[in-house]
Amino acid sequence: MQEQKLRQSIIDHCRQMNAAGINQGTSGNISVRFENRMLITPSAVPYDEMTPNMIASMPLDGEYGSWQGPKKPSTEWRFHLDILRTRPEINAVVHTHATFSTILAIAHKSIPACHYMVAAFGGDDIRLCDYARYGTKELSDNVLKALKDRTACLMANHGMIATGSSLEKAMWAAVELETIAKQYYHALLLGGAVILPPEEIEGVRRGFASYGLQDKPSPQGAEH
Ligand code: 13P
Ligand code: ZN
Repeated sequence: MQEQKLRQSIIDHCRQMNAAGINQGTSGNISVRFENRMLITPSAVPYDEMTPNMIASMPLDGEYGSWQGPKKPSTEWRFHLDILRTRPEINAVVHTHATFSTILAIAHKSIPACHYMVAAFGGDDIRLCDYARYGTKELSDNVLKALKDRTACLMANHGMIATGSSLEKAMWAAVELETIAKQYYHALLLGGAVILPPEEIEGVRRGFASYGLQDKPSPQGAEH
């Protein structure tokens, strides 16, 4: 995809995440790998006012934290950049304060294998990363740890992160994660969830390989 189209697509997906009810105001942010750069939403700009030229560009391999654009990149550029730098199979990152994911994160609960769709995130749980203040390197380090062998995580007292080999897949993952969080929260209200055994999640994961939900690593930006 051309850079200009990709920039517009980031804005479209920001609006989509609010329309889907998985984000409030401008609290979320999105990044996408483009060649050897990261394109990322600017900080605190309402999505209705966002234009393609406002999307910030940061080098993936150049000076850490340097950026180009008329607006500052999201305050969360560190974990976006660190994910894209260390996980070559990931091409897009979506961060939101989705309500049910955030409720679990406030209660310091990770999501166990309460539903077979947990397998779509790489294993038999969706981890909760330790709390660190927004925008910090410490938060980014905690996020990378929670994302080991996983494509999404909850963030203590903050929100959630979902990733994908394309922006479409990362957005799908964000909506799916919030759905599971909502279901798990309600199961807890009923008195608790019955958890699937690890071998069942492994079997589901193998099934997804032919169902189209599992991604094979793809060359940089290939799926945009
Ligand atoms: P930005 O508006 O800087 O992207 O920050 C929002 C946010 O989610 C901070 O955690
Ligand atoms: Zn946030």
